[in-house]
Amino acid sequence: MDTPAAPQQAETVRGGECVLVVPPRGRVFPQAGEAKIGVEHPGCDAVADLAIELDAFFCPSCHRNGRVSGAWCRDVIEAAGPAVTTGERG
Ligand SMILES: [Zn+2]
Repeated sequence: MDTPAAPQQAETVRGGECVLVVPPRGRVFPQAGEAKIGVEHPGCDAVADLAIELDAFFCPSCHRNGRVSGAWCRDVIEAAGPAVTTGERG
C-alpha cells in the first residue's frame, strides 16, 4: 500500500475535531526549514507539538492540551514513510 501522506483523523482527541498532520518529510521536532508533524485543532492556526511518549499534544500558541494515542500516532507517522521520523532516530 502506497498511500500519500494526508491529514489523518486523530482518534481519541476530545473537545473538538483534531487532525494529526504528517507532511512529506515532516518531523515531530523539525529543524529549521523542515515540515512539522503535529496536531491541527479547532480555533487555532498553529500546529500543536506532539508528545508521543506522553500520549498528548500541546500547542504553544493557544496553550491547548489534548490527548492522543501515542502508539497510534507512531503507527501513522511510520506508515507515512521512512523519511518521516519522530526525531528519535537519525
Ligand atoms: Zn493552538
